[in-house]
Amino acid sequence: MPDFDDLLRANREYAEDFGLSGFDGIAHAGIAMVTCMDSRIDPLRMIGLKAGDAKILRNPGGRVTDQALVALVLGVNLLQVRRVLVVEHTRCAMASSTEDELKARVAESAGTDASWMSLGAIVDQEQTVRADVMRVRSHPLISDDILVGGFIYDVDTGLLQPVS
Ligand SMILES: [Zn+2]
Repeated sequence: MPDFDDLLRANREYAEDFGLSGFDGIAHAGIAMVTCMDSRIDPLRMIGLKAGDAKILRNPGGRVTDQALVALVLGVNLLQVRRVLVVEHTRCAMASSTEDELKARVAESAGTDASWMSLGAIVDQEQTVRADVMRVRSHPLISDDILVGGFIYDVDTGLLQPVS
């Protein structure tokens, strides 16, 4: 697979001093984070964690989607998650354009109509974080003793701002 040679080469170097052999799949720090796919976000390091410590669920905008909820239900019930962070971030592409603007940009790049696909533009980030936190807190398969917090991450300072 020549298209992936550079990455496979890097992977072989990574595997040379691989330390996670035989490691289980629980969240050792008891943490799950739902956050955006944005490449400026380093979800583990921003809260002082490392591989093995947390469940990280990423999507455009950092939304508590149905699929993210499935992951959180599995995380809290089977994988020792005790605290959940919902993290959106400043200068997020999903929150700085309207749904129609996003669709127009995708259509222009793809060279074909994109109006049929819901992209999930975010109108008000703080309100969206609060609603997503409530979605987790109110889920019947997520116990009331699971702590859920909502935050906005500042991509220019590296700081997490609590929202709810
Ligand atoms: Zn984003």
